[in-house]
Amino acid sequence: MIYQSEQLTIRRLDGDIAELNFDLQGDSVNKFNQAVVSSLTAGLDALEAESGIKGLLVTSGKSVFFVGADITEFTPLFKASKGEIKPFTKPQNDNFNRIAALPYPSAVAINGIAVGGGLEICLACDFRVMSTAARIGLPETKLGILPGWGGTTRLPRLIGVDEAVTWIATGADQRPDAALKAGAVDAVASPEDLRDITLATLQHAIDGGLDYEGRRARKHGPLPLNDTEAMMTFFTIKAMVGQQAGKNYPAPMKVIDVIEAARNMSLEEALDVEADGFADLATTPVATALVGVFLADQLLGKKAKGWEKKADKKVEQAAVLGAGIMGGGIAYQSAYKGVPIKMKDIAQEGLDLGLSEANKLLSKRVARGRMTPEKMGDVLNSIDPTLSYTGFDAVDIVVEAVVENEKVKGIVLAEVEKEITEDTILASNTSTISITRLAENLQRPENFCGMHFFNPVHAMPLVEVIRGEKTSDAAVARTVAYANTMGKKAVVVKDCPGFLVNRVLFPYFGGFNMLLRDGADFTAVDKVMERWGWPMGPAYLLDVVGIDTGVHAAEVMAAGFPDRMQPGFKSATEVMFENKRYGQKNGKGYYEYVPDKKGKPQKTLNEEVYGLFGDSAGERREFDKQEIIDRMMLPMAIELARCLEEGIVETAAEADLAMLYGVGFPPFRGGIFRWMDTVGMAAIAEASEKYAHLGKAYELTETMRKMLANGETYY
Ligand code: NAD
Repeated sequence: MIYQSEQLTIRRLDGDIAELNFDLQGDSVNKFNQAVVSSLTAGLDALEAESGIKGLLVTSGKSVFFVGADITEFTPLFKASKGEIKPFTKPQNDNFNRIAALPYPSAVAINGIAVGGGLEICLACDFRVMSTAARIGLPETKLGILPGWGGTTRLPRLIGVDEAVTWIATGADQRPDAALKAGAVDAVASPEDLRDITLATLQHAIDGGLDYEGRRARKHGPLPLNDTEAMMTFFTIKAMVGQQAGKNYPAPMKVIDVIEAARNMSLEEALDVEADGFADLATTPVATALVGVFLADQLLGKKAKGWEKKADKKVEQAAVLGAGIMGGGIAYQSAYKGVPIKMKDIAQEGLDLGLSEANKLLSKRVARGRMTPEKMGDVLNSIDPTLSYTGFDAVDIVVEAVVENEKVKGIVLAEVEKEITEDTILASNTSTISITRLAENLQRPENFCGMHFFNPVHAMPLVEVIRGEKTSDAAVARTVAYANTMGKKAVVVKDCPGFLVNRVLFPYFGGFNMLLRDGADFTAVDKVMERWGWPMGPAYLLDVVGIDTGVHAAEVMAAGFPDRMQPGFKSATEVMFENKRYGQKNGKGYYEYVPDKKGKPQKTLNEEVYGLFGDSAGERREFDKQEIIDRMMLPMAIELARCLEEGIVETAAEADLAMLYGVGFPPFRGGIFRWMDTVGMAAIAEASEKYAHLGKAYELTETMRKMLANGETYY
């Protein structure tokens, strides 16, 4: 043994080859935390001191090769100044440079996922052999940063600037065939043959059959582009990436700047430019926000796994009541993810509609080559449309998705409870009705909870699992486990009007209606909020949700929280409703919608709509952008804070993710709590005072005031 630690071992194999094997003890994956980086330094000291070595083989003892840097270490690091952050990359770059400069060749066997730092160590090796089971990539820009361990330096020299920028800017995982074609790896092997082929490659290089020194010179020299070629290349690629990334995500453009600035530099100088770029990005709020989202997502994943473990039974057969927009979507998603589902309605037309929706979605997948016609047949066959309860005694969960009417739902739930076993879980997809109240219709309220999907079900990642007063852990556990199987992100919340997402969305719409009342133009509000990062402004969003649905839900919210959500005036949205302008569903709302050639509704403005508003819209005047942002965002943020304080949601991280996945809150802002931390509670308090005249929705909670006084933050 040349070197051994809890992170890695280096041992001598036959033929004087040293094998560096990463196997981080106590963890299921390899990652580069500070301990692994230090251990690699110590291991390389030992390796360099060992005489007679002719080649280095790099391997992993896990099914994953390397997941890259330990992201949890970024949170404290990114709070530091640029000057303090810059040296962070140096120890690992020194390690990789030492591997790249060994007096003998090196080869790596990439057996599983190798991303971020995991790929960068591979790039430092002379030869790369990739398993057919592996994926490689540099996903750092998805976290708002750039690859800081030689990724921007070595990759473009290996596969060319265009390809390298595409890999880094999209952050996408690359499959073995694409990696081989690009020249990022030298060979692809089956998992069984991987080690032998890598060793054979290494031996061939040791024997002089492969020129490893020539490869090193290419990887560490200037980019092979003359000035004109460079100008053309960088100009074109900047235009393309700039357009795709948009101004809110600076990392991809920074990557290009770094590659361009370092194109004629030595490796050392290039790594210095890279470290500068890394530190620049790491100090942006976008990086903090995106790293926060990544960590929140991990927390949610862990919680979901915890619930899965608690579930007494896996859902193997499901049922949905109601084959409408939501029921049809739920049936599709369940079947598509491998859980057969009965779809019950009271009308044959309903069933036909639900099936044709599923058919449309599946046909699209087949047309795009993402599914075989056989698989499509299997999925469709696992949706069992029915007008009766036959077979309901063999289902593990029933999701109720009938019309949003409390009386109807009460009757339907009581009826279905008689058809299922004592052990079956019953969940309602209601958007506005109290889970605790609905449970009063049941003999076994402990088996009942909310399972609130978002429209369209196949595309929206979030599911709120709602715990009523009598809901048992077992019911929550099985429902979360089913949501996981369906490929959804489940956030467990307590019952209250609007649950979590709608409860905070409606104060935002309330802010919108007040802005209109005070003379703002709805198109101007949409524009400002879209520039701020929302995928659609509030008027457009209301049209997509459905004005009728919006008005109904607003009434429920007003009854639930009259002090903050009772408008006290007739809102423009109500006027739209009275004029039968229901939004996209009937082609007319705030905007009008005309289908384009592909049948997609195109949003247009018909000025006549302004004539309908009456007193609900004040005399039109221009508003300052910041005023629009504050008046829209404040009520939403304060209501979310209330939800956290009341324990409706357990953590700020889950609340932030729910808004990202449920309504498309801009990821580069990291979530509403993250946004409040970024602008600071003092600024939130100042805006709250400025708009105090707009009512209680703008008033800070006691806890927020205390946080301000104590200088506390949510993260
Ligand atoms: P929908 O009107 O499209 O579909 C309702 C279906 O239920 C119809 O096919 C109807 O025939 C059927 N139905 C009525 N009574 C029934 C009964 N006794 N047994 C079986 N089927 C019956 O409605 P939707 O938009 O799909 O909404 C369904 C539920 O999902 C509602 O509770 C709604 O609040 C909720 N939801 C809707 C959305 C949305 O954006 N549409 C989003 C989240 C949640």
